[in-house]
This record gives sequence, C-alpha cells and structure tokens, in this order.
Amino acid sequence: MASQVNKHARKDPRVVIIGAGMSGILAVIKLREAGINNITVLEKGASVGGTWRDNRYPGLACDIPAPMYTYEFEPNPEWEHRFARGPEIRRYFERVAEKYDVLKDVRFNEEVEQCVYRDKEWHLVTSKGEVLVADMVISATGVLHHPSYPDIEGLESFSGQQFHSSRWPEKLDLKGKRVGIIGTGSTSAQIVPELVKEAAEVVVFQRTPHWIIPAPDRKYNTKLRNKVRKNPRLSKFAYWGYTRFMELTFTRAVIGKKYTRMMFNLIVKLNLKRSIKDPQLRSKLTPDYAVGCKRIIFSTKFYDAILRSNCQLVTEGIDHVESEGIVTEDGKCHDLDILVLATGFKSFNFMRPMQLTGRNGLDINEVWEEKVQVYRSTLIPGFPNFFLMFGPNAPIGNFSVIAMSEVVNRYILKLIERWRNGEMQEIEATVKATQEYNAYIKQGMGNTVCVKGCNSWYLDKDGDPAVWPYTWRHWVDTMSALKLADFTEGAP
Ligand code: NAP
Repeated sequence: MASQVNKHARKDPRVVIIGAGMSGILAVIKLREAGINNITVLEKGASVGGTWRDNRYPGLACDIPAPMYTYEFEPNPEWEHRFARGPEIRRYFERVAEKYDVLKDVRFNEEVEQCVYRDKEWHLVTSKGEVLVADMVISATGVLHHPSYPDIEGLESFSGQQFHSSRWPEKLDLKGKRVGIIGTGSTSAQIVPELVKEAAEVVVFQRTPHWIIPAPDRKYNTKLRNKVRKNPRLSKFAYWGYTRFMELTFTRAVIGKKYTRMMFNLIVKLNLKRSIKDPQLRSKLTPDYAVGCKRIIFSTKFYDAILRSNCQLVTEGIDHVESEGIVTEDGKCHDLDILVLATGFKSFNFMRPMQLTGRNGLDINEVWEEKVQVYRSTLIPGFPNFFLMFGPNAPIGNFSVIAMSEVVNRYILKLIERWRNGEMQEIEATVKATQEYNAYIKQGMGNTVCVKGCNSWYLDKDGDPAVWPYTWRHWVDTMSALKLADFTEGAP
C-alpha cells in the first residue's frame, strides 16, 4: 500500500464540472484552493448564474434571507433587500465568478450530451461535438431547472402568448392584457403580486392551496450598506444569526419537531385568517394537508394580490385549453391573452437528459428506473469518480442551498484528496453502503411532514420524499466523516 501511495502521490486530476451556476462556481474556487487547476466547466447557457440566470420573471426574489444566501467565505455587503431580488443575486454570482477568475475555465453554450466511463477515465462529448477526457466529473447542474409542462388537453392550441415561468420573455407588455397563471407554488406567489399591478385582468388557476408565512421584507439602505462594507464582522454575524435561526426553526419544522411545527401552524393559520376575511375565499385558500408538507411559501403579498379587484382565483379544475383561453370543469371559458405556466420543475432529472454511462455500460436511466437513489446525495455505485453536487436526499426545503453545496463540496474534496494521494483509484460507494444509507433515510421519513398528505416535487413516484429526514446538524456531521468501509476501495 505504501509504495502505491508514493507512486501516485499528489496526482493532479483533470476535472470537468457540468454547470456554472452557484455550485459550479463554488466547485472551481474550492478545487483551485486545494491546488487542483486542471479544470474545465461546461455550461449550456451563455453566462454564469444557473437558475438565477434562467429565471427572469417579475417579482423574482430569494425567499431565504439574503445575509445567509451567500458563500460562507464571500459575504455580500451589497444586498439591497432582506429577500434579495433576482438581479441582485445574479450580480452577486457574476461578481464572485469574476473576483476568483472562474470564467477562464468556463466554456459557455456547450452542453454535455454524453459522459461515458472507460478505462478509469470519463469521456465526454459536448453539443459542439468536442470530446473531453477527465479523471473526475462534478455534476453541478442543480435540481430545479427542467420545466415541468402540464399535461392539459389542447394546451398547444392556445392562440395567445404562452410560456413557462422560467422562460419569461424579454420585454413582455402586460398593460391591458388578460393574464392567466396556472399554479400557486413559490414561483406563482412571487409573480401574481407583480401581474396585478400591470395587467387588466389576472386569473389564478389553483389546483391545491399552499400555506403561506408572512416573512417581512426590508430594504437595506445606503447607510446600512456602508456600515456593513466598513465592518465585515456584521456580515459574518448576520450570516451566522440567520443560519442558526433557519436551522432551529424551518429545518426542524419539516422533520416533524413538535414545537416548531406548532409555531408554524399558528403563524400560517393566523396569516390566512387576518389576510382573507371572506370565509368562502378563505376556505378556497385553506390547504387540507399539514403545514410544511409542500414547501412553505414566504410572502406578504400573495393574499393582497388575490384580493385585488382585477384578480380572480379559480379553483375549479382545468378541463382543457382552447384557442381563446382555459375552459374549467364547470364549462366556463376564461378568455386570456397571455398564459403563464408556473407549474414547477422535473426535480428527479438531475444531470439528465445527458447520456451518463458508468462502469461496464451501466446506463443511469436503467439504474434509476426503479428509484433515484444515491449515496450521501453525492455518489452513484457503478459511476466511479462522478459526483453530484446536489443529489437526492439533501436537506432541501426552506434552507440555503448554498450552505448545502459547501458541505457537499468539502466532502467531494476529501474524496478527491484520497485519489490524489493514491489511496483510491476509483472513488465509488458500494451498493451495500448505498442501500444501507437509503434504508436509514427511509427509516426517518415517517417523521417528516413531507409525507403528511400532500403531493409535492419532493416526492418520487413511490411517494417517498427525496429529502433528508433528520436535522441539518446531523447531515453536516454525516457529510463531514468519510466512512471508508462504504467504498469499493475502502479500508481493508
Ligand atoms: P411548485 O412548487 O412545484 O408548484 C407548481 C404549481 O403548479 C403547483 O401549484 C401545482 O399544483 C401546479 N400545477 C402543476 N401542474 C399542474 C396542472 N397540470 N394543473 C394545475 N396546476 C398544476 O413549483 P414552483 O412554484 O416553481 O416552485 C418550485 C420550487 O422552486 C419551490 O418549492 C422552491 O424550492 C423553489 N423556488 C424558490 C424560490 C426562492 O425564493 N428561493 C422562489 C421560487 C421557487 P399542485 O400543488 O396541485 O401540484
């Protein structure tokens, strides 16, 4: 073993990162800090920022407090709001990418189409027909980026303008228009309050109501920003404070901690009661599932928007779409000029549709056909030296995905270090360890609120939530320890 370690000491891996969004930028910075410089980032879009580049809808903001929505090592004294707006966040990622010279390793407008493992190397083919060979591949593609289009009869026959919320057209004129929006999730709750300001008529098609928390926004004025610029400790303190707050409240509520759940129950119900006085309308907006089962929406504006005279909430099911608009099950046709599909994302796609082929021709679609399962949100047996920055069963839902990526990234780096030292040739979790890990997750699922009577993008086809059912702290501890016996080249 010792001679093997020497022989391979400090190898410099060729790393391909797929995606230049939040987690791709992070991976480049941290790999370089670890002394790894042979990096290529393949990005299908024309700029960095991932989801914050793609989403351009009016009202776009992050509903996680901005002071904690940063990389831990790169606080941002420039935030203008407690809940930062989309363009602010886009600028933040662009600034970080520029500051750390990330762009020099990024190839834009180049999508990975194939990624095949052969002779202990990954062979990638891109949309430009280029072939790359790498030792390691980091899939930093994010989770919510493949639009989910509803399967509604006649949708294509609509003669007005129609688009998914994440494909908002540039320079869309809403003045005097009748706008329909399907869906009432987090995205819609941000769009609707903006639509009612401009459009003549807004029709909101709700299939299932959501619980809403009235998290108050705050503008950070120039004086405050100057103060934070001058005293970086303030940013650090705010980061720490908000992170702890979210950890002790939201993340505990969704895993079924009694008192935090009771507190949220009370807040959302009071919010609904105070905001909507009309009992009939209130009943339409009252969910019949546990608070937190679907992702809790943060909004102080959605209910007010629904109450506007130019806004109508439609709860009858959609029967079909016609050229003029949407026909509901009561036979009524809602005439529209514009139709927004705020219908969410395909959350189980991960790096797909790219063709991913592991050891001995193993096809990811076949491996994941029964169930999308991985080891520690990161590794797939049969796909050595391939890492997911954001696989299933991370503690998603009402917490910062940036903090999660930083934890995963540290884990990946520890593994890569072992490869560099020659302690592992192929970083691969065993099937047994993956099964045990998923059994442990399944064991905790029953306590989570995600299985309490609702349908959501967290759930797979068997109704199992792809979330982490224990505390945030337990996840961080789990991801901090390498359990070498879980690897094919683990401890003897
Ligand atoms: P979503 O939560 O999945 O909501 C999709 C909505 O579309 C739901 O109301 C759903 O109804 C409805 N829908 C889907 N298909 C339909 C159909 N065929 N007919 C009628 N209604 C249909 O998607 P999202 O609002 O885009 O949010 C997704 C996630 O993105 C959020 O949970 C959050 O994690 C993230 N997000 C984050 C922020 C942020 O600020 N951090 C902002 C926006 C989004 P049902 O509920 O009945 O299925």
